[in-house]
Parts: sequence; C-alpha cells; structure tokens
Amino acid sequence: MHYPEPISKLIDSFMKLPGIGPKTASRLAFFVLTMQEDTVLNFAKALVDAKRNLSYCSVCGNITDVDPCHICQDVQRDRSTICVVQDPKDVIAMEKMKDYHGLYHVLHGAISPMDGIGPEDINVPSLLKRLQSEEVEELILATNPTIEGEATAMYISRLIKPSGIRTTRIAHGLPVGGDLEYADEVTLSKALEGRREL
Ligand SMILES: [Zn+2]
Repeated sequence: MHYPEPISKLIDSFMKLPGIGPKTASRLAFFVLTMQEDTVLNFAKALVDAKRNLSYCSVCGNITDVDPCHICQDVQRDRSTICVVQDPKDVIAMEKMKDYHGLYHVLHGAISPMDGIGPEDINVPSLLKRLQSEEVEELILATNPTIEGEATAMYISRLIKPSGIRTTRIAHGLPVGGDLEYADEVTLSKALEGRREL
C-alpha cells in the first residue's frame, strides 16, 4: 500500500513507540488526520516539551523538571529510608500508593550478566555515594520480582551489609516476573508492609 509521504512519515514515527506495530501505527496516523489542528499542535508540543524540559535528578535518578527533584527537596519526607527501584515508572506506582514517605533511588535497570549489564552500568555507584553522605537507616530493595531484579537486590544487600544499614526486600505477592509498575496499589502496599530483612 502506497501512502502519501506525510502519512507514511507519521506511521513510521508511531512505529518507533514500544508496542506499536504497523497496523496500530496506521490507525493512529489516520486518526490524527481527523483531529482538530489545535489538538494536534498541543500534542506535538507536549512531546517536544517533555523531551526538552525533563531530565534525571542528580541525587536519586528520578525523572524531573527541577534538580534535585521535588521528592528529594521535600523536607516532610523521611530521609532515613531510601526505596531502591529499577525505573522512574516504579516511583510513580509507589507514590500512587501513598503509604511510603521516604526517599527513592532509581537504578535505571537491573544487573544482568547475560546482557553484559553490571553494577557500574546502572545507578549503583551513585547509591553508594549517597549512603556515605546521607544518614540512611533503611534501604528498601524494591527491584522487580524477576531474576535480574532479585540478583540486583541480593548484590546491593551484600554490598551494604558491612555498613550496618538495614536492608529489606519488599515481599512477594507481586506477580513473579511482573514489573512493579503494573502492581495495583493494594498489592504494592502489602508488599511494602511485608518486607523482610536481607
Ligand atoms: Zn531526586
């Protein structure tokens, strides 16, 4: 099927998004043609603004429009607890739950020797630095319940052990192999409450 160039370009752009195949991409592209011009302009602007105005917090690695991020700057939060997660989306999931009031550290991945990803390739060095300069009492390891997530939690826990900082792992009950971000609020809250010592 031969499309006019602007529409095939639009289809190609949608296909760059995760989970979007050629069929969905062309459905979305043709939908855009039916949208109001204003709406399309706002949509395009939102894409560019998000890319230009967001960066990673220099302290915790979370996605932010200010540095340090709002959570790191918040004096109401419990600074003695850091919850370690794999992805900025996990922070959003934890915040939605509203039961956690400590700080975060976003690893941006997990250790995976099979893929050649070691501790230095994710935000482990910056976590160790934080633990040296901040008064942390508990590190909650909330990496995903996958092989990589478990291995990462074990690795960090062993590394931290000599420092005397309490390390805990969020409880199972999260779907095995599932991502933290897909857990519902009740499940996540229970997993946090049932965390165990490592
Ligand atoms: Zn931060």
